[in-house]
Amino acid sequence: MSDSYKIIDHTYDVVIVGAGGAGLRATLGMAAAGLSTACVTKVFPTRSHTVAAQGGMSAALGNMGEDHWKWHMYDTVKGSDWLGDQDAIEYMCREAVPAVIELEHFGVPFSRTDEGKIYQRPFGGMTTNFGEGTAQRTCAAADRTGHAILHTLYQQSVKHKAEFYIEHFALDLLMDDGVCRGVMSLDLATGEMHRFRAHTVVLATGGCGRTYFSATSAHTCTGDGNAMVLRAGLPLQDMEFIQFHPTGIYGAGVLITEGVRGEGGYLTNAEGERFMERYAPNAKDLASRDVVSRSMTMEINAGRGVGKDSDHIHLNLMHLGAEVTEKRLPGISESARIFAGVDVNKEPIPVLPTVHYNMGGIPTNYRGEVVTLKDGDPECVVPGLMAIGEAACVSVHGANRLGSNSLLDIVVFGRAAALRAAELITPGDEHKPLPASSTDAVLSHFDSIRQANGETPTATLRDDMQRTMQKHAAVFRDGDSLNEGVDKMQKIYDRFADINVSDRTLIWNTDLVETLELENLLAQAQSIIHGAANRTESRGGHARDDFEERDDDNWMKHTVTWVDEQGKVDIDYRPVHMYTLTEETEVIPPKTRVY
Ligand SMILES: Cc1cc2nc3c(=O)[nH]c(=O)nc-3n(C[C@H](O)[C@H](O)[C@H](O)COP(=O)(O)OP(=O)(O)OC[C@H]3O[C@@H](n4cnc5c(N)ncnc54)[C@H](O)[C@@H]3O)c2cc1C
Repeated sequence: MSDSYKIIDHTYDVVIVGAGGAGLRATLGMAAAGLSTACVTKVFPTRSHTVAAQGGMSAALGNMGEDHWKWHMYDTVKGSDWLGDQDAIEYMCREAVPAVIELEHFGVPFSRTDEGKIYQRPFGGMTTNFGEGTAQRTCAAADRTGHAILHTLYQQSVKHKAEFYIEHFALDLLMDDGVCRGVMSLDLATGEMHRFRAHTVVLATGGCGRTYFSATSAHTCTGDGNAMVLRAGLPLQDMEFIQFHPTGIYGAGVLITEGVRGEGGYLTNAEGERFMERYAPNAKDLASRDVVSRSMTMEINAGRGVGKDSDHIHLNLMHLGAEVTEKRLPGISESARIFAGVDVNKEPIPVLPTVHYNMGGIPTNYRGEVVTLKDGDPECVVPGLMAIGEAACVSVHGANRLGSNSLLDIVVFGRAAALRAAELITPGDEHKPLPASSTDAVLSHFDSIRQANGETPTATLRDDMQRTMQKHAAVFRDGDSLNEGVDKMQKIYDRFADINVSDRTLIWNTDLVETLELENLLAQAQSIIHGAANRTESRGGHARDDFEERDDDNWMKHTVTWVDEQGKVDIDYRPVHMYTLTEETEVIPPKTRVY
């Protein structure tokens, strides 16, 4: 098979797949540590989805009121509904403070207080004194924080002479007897195959929001790295936990940041009532996202939605005044105008809960190393493979991520992966020869899709998958609907065997790329819906009508799923880390959440 394609070989100490915030922070760190570093990305780095992040990045700087990283840790554990690993959460919240300062020094243009300190806004679930007050913890660059971070990290990576392979579609990992030895990519512009050998491959390929019909994430968020891991025979973790953001623009799915509510915006139903006061008397509109999304859905289901079909909710910010919207929220004012035809200073924005974030992903430890469950060992490290960012499940977000904790996660664990790689690899270490079978396996799989000659158009099957997921694995779930979804998804999965790729060329073949992405999405949809049907409790983002309570006795554990070539899903479990990293902190014991 390797004879049928032209292959260009590269050898690096490390290869990072993905140039979002996570990938770039790792790229920069590894290049700065003297490792020869390549970054492979299917879109231009500054077009990665991180660019769309609006609201900000959390860190207990205490610039605008008292704060402490231990309070941040408490909030994150509670937000995770006790599914988060407490050692990793401790690491992230402690490292948050130096991570933001480091970004500031790299050149991120944060908004400022009158005294010139980094501006911080309140975000859902962020409290002071272990749940007592409201923390202003989210560091913002107006409502374009992701944009600012991504551009800065790209500039820093270029400065440190990392090498970029842009508009390269990574196909699969090169595995050799359980060890990851490299990765294969298709250069979209030339159609050439590139074989990268590396001591460590870092997957930073982002989330898989596009398994669903309505998502705030970019069309490129197809979880390719997650699918590569499944094809390598390794599992994904906690995929059933999907975050629905309360405020996607009705119809378009485009995000309106939680920062709007942080600045004082609030939700109303058809009666003009601020209904969040009923559901979450303390946190109100700033309750965590799962709570707000569910409350909105309940209002709509009770017939109190707005609009002619009573099927959405209003987000009000007219009272904030043009000065606040122009200075603090210029991007969302523009989005509301373009996608909803609304002037935010005069009318409410029509919004609806929309798929926003994947809490699940590739299981890793807090150093970014991929782990698997092997011979009874739940912490078995996969040599040569790391995962970071939304692709990974560290797990710091557990069953539900707090707003502004993801920009933090990508930066902190991007850096952690770089530190670990620098410990493990000596620049220029020799590479073992790579067996031909590793390359052949990747190429024959690729070739089978390229030559696919069935009857089903990619767009049709993708639409069927997205609508099935939207309907059967939604904000509220129940056994009957989930099981129906499981059956439907298996049929959809089976139809991939009948897929049609009409364009056989290799140059800018978007038909082929979309089909490869669809294959990736299908495997993850299987993980999500099987995981959701299997988990008979409600926790964080996973809310079941037929099992309304959190069940710590049976379910305080991570789901791990393997998906084989036929779409068959195997499920097992890893324990939640109910221990901290240092003696400075204590385990936060499970409590019932009070909103
Ligand atoms: C609209 C929106 C707003 C958000 N706002 C916030 C916020 O304010 N605060 C917050 O904390 N979080 C926010 N989030 C979440 C957060 O932005 C993301 O979780 C985070 O940016 C993901 O970063 P990443 O580096 O993991 O992945 P991404 O930024 O998605 O980057 C993925 C990278 O992988 C590459 N890639 C993927 N597949 C392949 C392949 N096959 N071959 C080669 N390259 C590949 C892509 O080219 C890209 O460079 C928001 C998310 C969205 C969608």
